[in-house]
Amino acid sequence: MDLSKRQQRIIEIVKADGPITGEQIADQLTLTRATLRPDLAILTMAGFLDARPRVGYFYTGKTGSELLTEKIKRYKVYEFQQVPVAVSEKVSVYDAISTMFLEDVGTLFVVDENSCLVGVLSRKDLLRASMGRQDLSSIPVPIIMTRMPNITVCHKNDLLIDVAHQLISRQIDGVPVVKDTENGLEVIGRITKTTMTKLLVELTIEDTI
Ligand code: ADP
Repeated sequence: MDLSKRQQRIIEIVKADGPITGEQIADQLTLTRATLRPDLAILTMAGFLDARPRVGYFYTGKTGSELLTEKIKRYKVYEFQQVPVAVSEKVSVYDAISTMFLEDVGTLFVVDENSCLVGVLSRKDLLRASMGRQDLSSIPVPIIMTRMPNITVCHKNDLLIDVAHQLISRQIDGVPVVKDTENGLEVIGRITKTTMTKLLVELTIEDTI
């Protein structure tokens, strides 16, 4: 975040003289405590300063980018997961291609009659199947999908950054968010490369750090 001149001055004062009360900071800037209140609130919320009752403000020693990194590392999957798009294991490759277009997604999750995860279909899986001369409506999706147990999954309380690492290291576009049930893994969401791109854009707009 961009700090105003006054906010930068406050940080310098607290760095040099902290712990220091709001009153004392105001004195040094020849301003009133009330005038400073919004700046101190912003600096504390953003994590540059910490405030302790009866002690005053002190500098946390962290740079803006350190604070941003800490913030990103705390994000959980459930805060960002999107709605998953699933098809039954009974559908044909033709139907899966139609669903991919209609739902406008790049990854389809394949589920059994209990809505539990059995496979994943990517764009290229479907393209590859379309290159032959077969009738696509007569090929069931299990023939071409990537199957359990070779599917990378995540849970809603996992750290988002760990899923981002998996997207990169396994070279995949999406990971299903699953819930453990007695019948298997129920698909409750998805994290994709688009989720991560959206987050990047939001961070630049949000500007709370
Ligand atoms: P594309 O194949 O369109 O580039 P991906 O990179 O997502 O899309 O998929 C690459 C391969 O990895 C495909 O064969 C796909 O079935 C498989 N795959 C996709 N997502 C997962 C996942 N979460 N776990 C395991 N394999 C996956």
